[in-house]
Amino acid sequence: MSQERWRVDVDDPQERVESWGRALASRSRVAYATSVGTLREIFEIARRERRTIALRGAGCSYSDAFQNAGGIVLDLAGMNRILGFDAESGVLTAEPGLTIAQLWRSTLRDGWWPPVVTGTMFATLGGIVAMNAHGKNNFKRGTIGDHVLSFTILLPTGEELRCSRDENADVFHAAIGGFGMLGCFTSLTIQMKRVVSGLLEVEPLVEPNLGAMLETMERRRATSDYLVGWIDGFASGSSLGRGVIHAARYLHDGEDPHPEVTLSPASQELPTRILGVFPKAWTWRLLRPFVNDPGMRLINLAKYLASRAHVEEHAYRQSLAAFSFLLDYVPGWKLAYGPGGLIQYQSFVPRAHAARVLGRLLELSQERGLVPYLGVLKRHRPDPFLLTHAVDGFSLALDYRVTAANRARLWSLAREMDPIVLDSGGRFYFAKDATLSRASGARIWPRESVERFLAIRRRCDPEGILQTDLFRRVFGAA
Ligand SMILES: Cc1cc2nc3c(=O)[nH]c(=O)nc-3n(C[C@H](O)[C@H](O)[C@H](O)COP(=O)(O)OP(=O)(O)OC[C@H]3O[C@@H](n4cnc5c(N)ncnc54)[C@H](O)[C@@H]3O)c2cc1C
Repeated sequence: MSQERWRVDVDDPQERVESWGRALASRSRVAYATSVGTLREIFEIARRERRTIALRGAGCSYSDAFQNAGGIVLDLAGMNRILGFDAESGVLTAEPGLTIAQLWRSTLRDGWWPPVVTGTMFATLGGIVAMNAHGKNNFKRGTIGDHVLSFTILLPTGEELRCSRDENADVFHAAIGGFGMLGCFTSLTIQMKRVVSGLLEVEPLVEPNLGAMLETMERRRATSDYLVGWIDGFASGSSLGRGVIHAARYLHDGEDPHPEVTLSPASQELPTRILGVFPKAWTWRLLRPFVNDPGMRLINLAKYLASRAHVEEHAYRQSLAAFSFLLDYVPGWKLAYGPGGLIQYQSFVPRAHAARVLGRLLELSQERGLVPYLGVLKRHRPDPFLLTHAVDGFSLALDYRVTAANRARLWSLAREMDPIVLDSGGRFYFAKDATLSRASGARIWPRESVERFLAIRRRCDPEGILQTDLFRRVFGAA
């Protein structure tokens, strides 16, 4: 892209840029980078014209992590080439805009699956590494950062660094999970996971309350490759936190009679119709009348009772994609939440405090009349990245509908919940956070870690060109 062309793009009328859940929005000029050359040019112009830039992958963050009020949002989805893949070793190098969907569709036939995937396959490699995303296997395989062998990063100064555990190791450990505040990944090299089948063996486990959910997850850690729990946010009293855990494991050699079929990308594609009848594209419209308190109470109850009724049927086999990307089954499902959208409140709590803290968050939501419509429980383990969100414990992700009438109450509920999490040594995750104040943000990590991060940032981006609404909200002005 020439400077002329880029100029036309940035001087376009400002665009409304929404968080994935649509609840946070600000206006920016949106520019598109399709090569390292254009990226370099855009950084140079921003430096010269004193503009700020937020990097955007696919915009799948529930937070304001890729928004930049009054500045530029630089979209990287066009930089999505695979630069190298060794089908023997499973080492893959790609540009940052490659989506998880493009990734597994390119490697599965050779028996390689991404080592860590998020609940949506539409996120990009650059976006998940910038957030150091976790999957349903976090307790076992760590975060995506644990599988990054090296990357190149273009700094706003124009310098390009190669980083690994041995080379520029401080930038390596800070940029993974550094939410796009140090520079732009231009290529990433990761180690893929060997699989011998495109199927998983999945076992559903229905549990009557939160204590039982946590205990079962803990017990199943040793024998599972993936663990994820769904929680009914409406259940109260002795049923508080009841739900269903799905424990899954990879198949071993010889267990899948037709690996050549199940490893084909076509066999992994999600069905185009729900229940074989409704086109998927319609489904959010069918859901829309139920996305309110009575409707979601009913859906959560029905899901719990149906799971309990079928639990005897026990283990079943499911494709890797169907298990991993459940939420992608219903395209546009967030639209069912209406114009105010949704936010997610995901807190990470050390194991010893999980039952008390997560239980209290559910109770408090119910007491305030703001019940989460979806609750997802995961088990985590610590990792070596500077601003990591992971703890040796559990996370509970709670989805709340946002309306004009409840917005202020929802933000004050979050203000009430934050200290409960932080007092237990808990953490929050910038890919999901929409509500954190500066004061609460300052309590997530030890002060020295934040200072070390900000010092690396001053070195990589001395003029503070990389900025987001999230950065200003949680860390203050540059
Ligand atoms: C339905 C759904 C399910 C999800 N499930 C999970 C889950 O299971 N686990 C989990 O961890 N997360 C999950 N997420 C969150 C999601 O994985 C993260 O928000 C991820 O960062 C989104 O990737 P993206 O490409 O859309 O990045 P964006 O949201 O566009 O950006 C995320 C951050 O990355 C930065 N960034 C983007 N590209 C680059 C680059 N090239 N160089 C440097 N920085 C860059 C941006 O500035 C921003 O700070 C889920 C999100 C959705 C919508």
